[in-house]
Amino acid sequence: MSLNELTDINEQIQEAADIIRRGGVVAFPTETVYGLGANAFDAQAVARVFEVKRRPYFDPLILHIAERGWLGDLAVDVPMAAKRLIDALWPGPLTVVLPKKPVVPDIVTAGLPGAALRMPSNEIARGLILAAGVPIAAPSANLFGSVSPTAAEHVMAQLGSAVDMVIDGGECSVGIESTIVSFMGEEPALLRPGGTALEEIEAVIGRVVIPSNGELVNQSPGRSGTHYATSTPLIRIGGVDKIGGINIWCTDPSKPIAKIGLIALSPASVPDPAALPPAVVNIEYLSASGDLREAACRLFAAMRRLDAAGVDAIAALPVPSVGLGLAINDRLSRAALKGEIASPQIKR
Ligand code: AMP
Ligand code: MG
Repeated sequence: MSLNELTDINEQIQEAADIIRRGGVVAFPTETVYGLGANAFDAQAVARVFEVKRRPYFDPLILHIAERGWLGDLAVDVPMAAKRLIDALWPGPLTVVLPKKPVVPDIVTAGLPGAALRMPSNEIARGLILAAGVPIAAPSANLFGSVSPTAAEHVMAQLGSAVDMVIDGGECSVGIESTIVSFMGEEPALLRPGGTALEEIEAVIGRVVIPSNGELVNQSPGRSGTHYATSTPLIRIGGVDKIGGINIWCTDPSKPIAKIGLIALSPASVPDPAALPPAVVNIEYLSASGDLREAACRLFAAMRRLDAAGVDAIAALPVPSVGLGLAINDRLSRAALKGEIASPQIKR
């Protein structure tokens, strides 16, 4: 189906809701990234989401709901802190993990006792969930491990023929996945930094625990290993040196990196572009003014552009770890896990 076959967005929503109710799989926009959704109560439909994405079954899905009232149908208990957080920050890019009711199929939570729940602010997403009348289980609409889609074209290019429908809702306004906070333990824990800043969350409920990598894998299995990866190796660089240059050497001189695409927050974060190695042929600044919210929104599209630019490696400078910078650095370091295997070493 072509993107413009159904032009009216309400028609698209109704058509997609019908498909969801019949057990189909639909890609739809949210404010974070495009999701690949199925009726969360239909284990077979959810299984197809895993198949289409080639996602391992141990990696649980977020349930998307249209109204706060649905929470009581899915979660056994909503602790006071979770209530306060939801009241303050829903709808939006915030997911909470709460003890699940038996009605949530095990395939959705990968057998975990908690369900991850989110109410998106994107009106197309909420309209779709409301029209379907069921929670929609949806991961990002990309093949497992690769860069998340922030526009319908990205979905079409990778999964277009494998899904029943793609709703084109333009570009995602937040552009990075939701922040996930778990209320399964004694204290609230940050399972994934994302589109809601940790500072905003802590302003509402106080300190949120940041689990170690080991603890994280137990609580949130999908958080291990490579993710968000470009096909071109992506390398993180510690920082810029005193004169503002980035030194990049190849460990294997017989295979020099001829072309490097650089991701940097802003022109100001690369003090002396003239000192960059000549191999840097392409620079993606995530935000001209260094705004971390804008940078988070543009990150995945920038990664895609460099992936398509024919460079041998993508080098990424970390951004300040405050606000949405935490999520940007998280995505870059997970994308780099794949690059590190194949990429040359970088010395400063
Ligand atoms: P994605 O759908 O790609 O945005 O990834 C969703 C992520 O949310 C998963 O990889 C898990 O890390 C986390 N998640 C989803 N459901 C649960 C759950 N029930 N318990 C803990 N973490 C979850
Ligand atoms: Mg994903």
